[in-house]
Amino acid sequence: MNAGRTVSTDAPLLVVDNLRKSFGAHEVLKGVSLSVKPSQVIGLLGRSGSGKSTLLRCLNMLEVPSGGRILLEGEEIGFETTSGGRRRPLSASRLALQRASMSMVFQHFNLWPHRTVLGNVVEGPVQVLGMAREEAEALGLDLLARVGLRDKADSYPIRLSGGQQQRVAIARALAMRPKIMLFDEPTSALDPELVGEVLQVMLDLAKSGTTMVVVTHEMSFARNACDEVVLLEGGQIVERGAPDYVMTQSENPRARQFFASQR
Ligand code: ADP
Ligand code: MG
Repeated sequence: MNAGRTVSTDAPLLVVDNLRKSFGAHEVLKGVSLSVKPSQVIGLLGRSGSGKSTLLRCLNMLEVPSGGRILLEGEEIGFETTSGGRRRPLSASRLALQRASMSMVFQHFNLWPHRTVLGNVVEGPVQVLGMAREEAEALGLDLLARVGLRDKADSYPIRLSGGQQQRVAIARALAMRPKIMLFDEPTSALDPELVGEVLQVMLDLAKSGTTMVVVTHEMSFARNACDEVVLLEGGQIVERGAPDYVMTQSENPRARQFFASQR
C-alpha cells in the first residue's frame, strides 16, 4: 500500500474540465472532469472502447479535444489567451515543451532499434530539452539504475526482453523530467512472466512520489498503487474513489458488473 508516502493536499497539478472528444459523429468522451494532485496516482479503468486511451491522448494533445479544458499547474494545455482575450492554439514549440512535461508510456514501447539503451534514454533530453549530452548521459545512467538496467546501457534494444524494453521506455519517459507520467496499458503487450518486473518499477515510482495516471487492466496494481481509481464507461466517468471502495464496496451497478468481470 502507500505507507510512507504522503499525498500532498496542494492545489491540483492537473485539472481536466468537461473534456469532450468526437471522431466525426462519434462522441468518444462526453464531458470528463478529473483532477490530479502532486504525487497522486490515478488508475483509469474501463472496458475496451470506453475511451481510456483517447482521454490520455487528449491530455498531452496527441488528440485535439473537441471541447473542455486541460490545465497543468494552472496553465492551459495547447491554447493561450491573447492580450485581446482571444483563445488560440499554442505555437508548435511551446506545445512541444508542454508535451514534454507529461511523458507517456505506451503499450508498444517503440525503442529506436539502432540506438543503444542509453542512447534511447538521452535522445529526448538532448533534442527536446537542449540538455548537454554528458549531463543527459549521467541522468540516463541514474534512471537506468532506477529501473534496474544500469548494466544494459550499452546494449541494443533487440538484445533485451520485452519487460526490459518497457523498463527502458519508462526510463526514457522519466528522462524528460515530466511533471506527470501517463501510462497506457504498459504491460498488456508483454508475456505474462514479464509483467511483474514492469509493475514493480511502476510501484516504486508511485511510492517515491511520482504523479501518475495509469490505464491498466492489472487490478492488483490498481489496488496497491493507486490513490484513486476512476471507472470510465461510454466516455463518461461512472464511478471514482479509493480503490478498495470502488473495487469492492461500491453499490454502483456498473462498477459492480465491471469488477465482477475482472475476477
Ligand atoms: P480504450 O482505450 O478505452 O479501449 P479508446 O479511447 O481507444 O478506448 O477508444 C474509444 C472509442 O473511440 C472506440 O470506439 C474507438 O473506436 C474510437 N476511436 C479511438 N480513436 C479513434 C480515431 N482516431 N478515429 C476514430 N475513432 C476512434
Ligand atoms: Mg486503450
